[in-house]
Amino acid sequence: MRIQKPAAIFRRISSILHSIRFRLVMWFSAILALVLVVFSGFIYANQRRDILGESEFSLERKMAALAVSLSITGEGITVPNGILQNSDILIFTDQSGQVLASHGSILAQDSQSLATYATQEFENRPSHDNVTSWMQRSGSPRTNYIFVTVPLQNGPRPSGLAILGSPADPYGLESRLLLTLAGGSLVTLVIALLGGFWLADRAMRPVRTITQAARSIGETDLSLRLNMKSKDELGELANTFDAMLGRLQAAFERQRQFVADASHELRTPLTIVNLETSRSLASPRKPDEYRHALSIIRSENDFMTALVNDLLILARMDAGQAAMESQPVDLSDVALETLERLTPLATRNGVRLEAGDLPEVRIRGDRKYLVQMVTNLVDNGIKYAGGQDKEVCIETGASDGSAWLHVSDNGPGIAPEYLSHLFDRFYRIDQARARSDDGSADSQSPAGSGLGLSIVQWIVRSHGGEIKVNSQVGAGTTFEVRFKAI
Ligand code: ADP
Repeated sequence: MRIQKPAAIFRRISSILHSIRFRLVMWFSAILALVLVVFSGFIYANQRRDILGESEFSLERKMAALAVSLSITGEGITVPNGILQNSDILIFTDQSGQVLASHGSILAQDSQSLATYATQEFENRPSHDNVTSWMQRSGSPRTNYIFVTVPLQNGPRPSGLAILGSPADPYGLESRLLLTLAGGSLVTLVIALLGGFWLADRAMRPVRTITQAARSIGETDLSLRLNMKSKDELGELANTFDAMLGRLQAAFERQRQFVADASHELRTPLTIVNLETSRSLASPRKPDEYRHALSIIRSENDFMTALVNDLLILARMDAGQAAMESQPVDLSDVALETLERLTPLATRNGVRLEAGDLPEVRIRGDRKYLVQMVTNLVDNGIKYAGGQDKEVCIETGASDGSAWLHVSDNGPGIAPEYLSHLFDRFYRIDQARARSDDGSADSQSPAGSGLGLSIVQWIVRSHGGEIKVNSQVGAGTTFEVRFKAI
């Protein structure tokens, strides 16, 4: 047998005492005990009154029978057979309370003290029918006596008293009732206590299951589920718990993926920078070679700066820290500002930036984020525009109460199977095309981190808008964002 240490035993007792199970059973038992006491008390008082009333009534009947058949002589009292029982006591007193004669098994001194008491009672509590009754209590209810006193009439004034007493409860009904009620109540209480513990234990079992499950969930393993089938409140709690775990797992998985993707994205440019510097430092080089190495390093540095900026925006978005203003903003104004800023870049890439129809369309939002949104879309247009006559065009307009902005290009277009993933983080249609085999940026392919469109989507959603892509392979792509116009 395993012997527990006192501290462990104390902890166990303390946990039982503080458990809901224990408190529930205790409250339930206390209420039941109260009900039993009140109920038993009520029954006991009622039955006792009946028993005593019955005894008193039979005494009065005996007294009436005695009144007609009794003879008192100088030798004592002659009681006809069959009226008094062996246990009955009959005493006659004179006016002053002195015992004149007595009958029954009672000592002389006891009969005198009874007579004195009866005389005082009779004087103190005169009743309407001149009959006084009282109860003489002894140690146990079985030996309690009940007495009736009637005045002995001799002329207009009573000449003494007749006191007749008999056991209040000759068959011991009262004590049996008391025993039955007390015993019954105790047994009921014990059964209720045990049953209550069993029931509470059963009811609380799912809570223990939930607690154990919660304990066994590790920091990295959120795959555990309770899968409780019951339809009761605890089943509902377990299902809510499972749903919460599901959400946590998804969020945790997203976070893990995000960190892994971010590190992966940073690793490549860092490797390139390291490679280029090591190669340049290994042996003396010509100025042109140094220039070439430095331009590669700068381009990787630009890429990392853009990536870190995007990551920062996404991290703020995820943490809910990106404070969004709500000011009236003209979308055409945002479009013009972006065109102006990106024209040098477009020119460098041989892309013509076109301003289409740009009527004033006002929405409510944060200008800074809206500029970022249009910048990302136009920047993609410039990056992915292809063919001889490369062109990116911006238009704005309003219809059906909403304001829209289109960014279209005549680039290679996007195949339908890629469209659903376009807004996923770190998603690039042609991963290999963005970087050449040695990891360096491919001069033919635009370098991107795959974060631009997920940022655009978040900005659009934060403004209560929606974004759509229309694309035809070989013909070009149009991104359309729509917001509620004001
Ligand atoms: P990136 O930083 O790589 O541009 P985005 O999230 O902005 O990331 O875009 C995701 C991918 O969608 C890009 O890698 C590119 O393959 C594709 N894409 C985005 N815009 C266009 C476009 N205008 N034309 C063709 N492909 C595009």
